[in-house]
Amino acid sequence: MKLMSSKQEILRQIPKVDRILVLPNVLTLLDQHPRPEVLAAARQVLAALRHSVNNGELTVLPDLNDIACLIASELSGRTLPSLQSVINGSGVVVHTNLGRSPLADVAEQAIHTVSVGYSNLEFDLATGERGSRYSHVEGLLRELTGCEAALVVNNNAAAVILALSSLANDREVIVSRGELVEIGGSFRIPEIMCQSGARLVEVGCTNRTHGRDYKGAITDATALLLKVHASNFAIVGFTAETSLAELSVMGREAGIPVMLDAGSGCLVDLSPYGIKGEPTIRKYLALGADVVTFSGDKLLGGPQAGIIVGKENLIEAMKRHPLLRALRMDKLSLAALEATLRLYRDERLALAAIPTLRMLTMSSEKISQRADRMIRYLRKRLPKSISFTRHPGESSAGGGSFPLLQLPTTLIEIRIDGATPLQMESTLRLTTPPVVGRIQRDRFLLDVRTLLDRDLAPLFASLQKAATLLAEK
Ligand SMILES: *Cc1c(COP(=O)(O)O)cnc(C)c1O
Repeated sequence: MKLMSSKQEILRQIPKVDRILVLPNVLTLLDQHPRPEVLAAARQVLAALRHSVNNGELTVLPDLNDIACLIASELSGRTLPSLQSVINGSGVVVHTNLGRSPLADVAEQAIHTVSVGYSNLEFDLATGERGSRYSHVEGLLRELTGCEAALVVNNNAAAVILALSSLANDREVIVSRGELVEIGGSFRIPEIMCQSGARLVEVGCTNRTHGRDYKGAITDATALLLKVHASNFAIVGFTAETSLAELSVMGREAGIPVMLDAGSGCLVDLSPYGIKGEPTIRKYLALGADVVTFSGDKLLGGPQAGIIVGKENLIEAMKRHPLLRALRMDKLSLAALEATLRLYRDERLALAAIPTLRMLTMSSEKISQRADRMIRYLRKRLPKSISFTRHPGESSAGGGSFPLLQLPTTLIEIRIDGATPLQMESTLRLTTPPVVGRIQRDRFLLDVRTLLDRDLAPLFASLQKAATLLAEK
């Protein structure tokens, strides 16, 4: 009872907003920010105080000056956008949690051009009539993959749903048990299949599926033979997989289309760079796939998109499906996708200008030189209490591609006097811009492969800020 009454007492002492707004420090804030913003921040701070008193966390109220400080800090938090640019020192190139692929400069410019004014998004400039948003990239995709027709939607998950809904609704789709994958973010092949109204027919075993398994499952109700890229895992040991070529022959004989969800999808051969085992989309089509779907923001290095390429009649069915309207791509992504695809007309240009490809194919010598340059830049500008050491290490591709691949890289270990790696990690996550690194063997490390040139100056500022914050602790 005594506790209750003291809680009530403290709650009564929390000042009213009116009293807060005339504090000298808050008057200064009112000079610098719109009144509604200051008011909202003050209410937020007072509500938080009330909450802390109520649940017993707070037994002594901060004084008025401290409350003014809390309001100033709340205000600065409100002016910072929630979605912000981050420095990726993790060494995972296509990092799904960090926005997957950074865009090429031309893609950034294309977004700008199309977003600040009107565009011919659905207007045919030649005839003056209504046009199709899909026409802007279909020709390019024909050129780059050799497909008959193409369609783009919001992401690859949407591409798979649209393809299955258009081609297999109420009918059967045969898939190997070794390919019933979950990609993450709750994309699971069996559930996607269910959503699209197709009936899943599983064949073979987790580690081995043979051509005869598919053949034995074909009935009059079979609409598709589906292959799914294993993406984020690998089955090793006693395994057997029916090749796309074999499946295509079988499909052609039975008059059933073969679809491949290629996942990441790549338009250039990366094997000269030590990244082996991922055929290009052109190759998949040449091997006989009738429909191939893949992502725009994984290995392709473009914006979020789902790209569908294949036979004209099958793509036509998708273009007519009512779901397409709900899955359609917006003009900003479309502009970025077109600009990115254009780069692929010259493979050398694509490898140099698309950050994802550039980072994946960067030689370890080049990375080592960049590490030296970055360390020199940072050392010159930062106090001696922040030190840098180089270590050899490994980066990964990410984005559900090449799960076993380890690319040799250079890691920069950063040390700040008096701070543990764990403290550094959590402090650097909260600077502007935030810096995401990794902790390995009690070292805080940044992988040079995924650091962009443009990250260098902001990295310096964030390190300086982190050192100040850690010194105050
Ligand atoms: C990543 C992936 C998807 C989902 O693609 P999003 O573009 O993320 O929607 C689907 N299938 C496979 C095999 C994948 O690797």
